[in-house]
Amino acid sequence: MSDPLDALQAKVRALREEFERALGEARDPQGFQAVKDRFLGRKSGAVTGLLRSLAGLAEDARRDAGRELNALKQDIEARLDGAREALTARSRDERLAHERVDVTLPGRPPVLGRRHPLTVVREELEEIFLSMGYEVYDGAETDDDYHCFEALNMPPDHPARDMQDTFYVAGHSGALLRTHTSTGQIRYMLSNPHPPVVRIICPGKVFRRDDDITHSPMFQQVEALVVGPGITLGDLKGSIEAFLHALFGPQYPVRFRSSFFPYTEPSVEVDLGCIVCGGKGCRVCKGTGWLEIMGSGMVHPAVFEAVNARLGRMVYDPEEVTGFAFGLGIERVAMMKHGIDDIRLFYGSDLRFLEQFPA
Ligand SMILES: [Zn+2]
Repeated sequence: MSDPLDALQAKVRALREEFERALGEARDPQGFQAVKDRFLGRKSGAVTGLLRSLAGLAEDARRDAGRELNALKQDIEARLDGAREALTARSRDERLAHERVDVTLPGRPPVLGRRHPLTVVREELEEIFLSMGYEVYDGAETDDDYHCFEALNMPPDHPARDMQDTFYVAGHSGALLRTHTSTGQIRYMLSNPHPPVVRIICPGKVFRRDDDITHSPMFQQVEALVVGPGITLGDLKGSIEAFLHALFGPQYPVRFRSSFFPYTEPSVEVDLGCIVCGGKGCRVCKGTGWLEIMGSGMVHPAVFEAVNARLGRMVYDPEEVTGFAFGLGIERVAMMKHGIDDIRLFYGSDLRFLEQFPA
């Protein structure tokens, strides 16, 4: 019969080997806990079981075996603690290596936005007019029949209304989206009756029932109005020439052709020497060498009379004051400046188009 202590020592050696294998296979905190339960668990741990079995040994053998088993228990605990610490250190090192910042790398520049090409053109126009002594006046995008047509010498049956069919606001009798910024003329004169001297531009959105490559149901105009004693057609021509030369350059000739608008008399259409071919004739100017750029004219006396009637007194006396007005499309200017042939590109929100313009 073998010595019970020898037998126990053999079991301890076997357990140590078993423990080393199990520890080598554990990869994470749960794995370590499972190893601990397997060997040191209170109910079914292998070492715990052996400790219990000591009760049947003689006192000397029990003391020696107890020392042996406690040493095994402490070794197992120490080895598990060491393995846990090593795992924690390894995962911290991995995280640090992963999160390491290379401060020598170039930064990532944030994407800067830019102004819309139409905003750029509108602000350029405003700058030119401000430098010429004009005031920038904001009109109303939702307006009414009186300001949009009637006060501008277009009574309800006037045929010129057909060219400016617009959108009406449902449920609000007479409310409409303005078809041109000329409404700003009337609104400004009504709200600024003293003195009867006016020099304004009114930039803004206008609306018409048109939709094709050169017409958009919403587009932008700039209206100009100058009123005062002794304003002449010569002032109109000089002002428009100065403005167009500031905008496009002094090398382009400006031409005036007689035309018709209900709210000006005489009325003139303004052409600019083609900026694409320099006047020789090309596809853009349809071989004429000229590009239509704006409509203008001397303010019709009927417009002053309509304002006076609404004011209830004579402020803009057509015998005392005269004036001129002109209006042009902001999209038209932007299309000419950048060689764009489809107005819808401005409102398509396509970044491939918009990013072609300088920031
Ligand atoms: Zn041309």
